[in-house]
Amino acid sequence: MQRSKTLNPDQCQKWIFSFSDFISHQCTRRVVVNYDGFNYCKIHDPEYIKAKGKARQEKWDREWAERRKRGNLEVVRRKATAGLTLDELNAVTPDLIRKALKEA
Ligand SMILES: [Zn+2]
Repeated sequence: MQRSKTLNPDQCQKWIFSFSDFISHQCTRRVVVNYDGFNYCKIHDPEYIKAKGKARQEKWDREWAERRKRGNLEVVRRKATAGLTLDELNAVTPDLIRKALKEA
């Protein structure tokens, strides 16, 4: 592990700060791409990092949309069944649900 701030051009150019030993060092992973004149390993490839961030954002958006949808259905279900007795709950019909959905 080198302590100098001079980057070794044959290694991945990413400078890493290690929280465990409080020193920073150059990434020692194998170089796989050259981006903008700098060498990077697979995980520090700026394109890879961008793609990963995008994928994470999309996954997050999907999860939120799913959660919102579930939340809305729960509100509709509660409105549709509010104040009903057990017998009435057993008699909940698709028509009743459709009516509640329209009013929601
Ligand atoms: Zn690296």
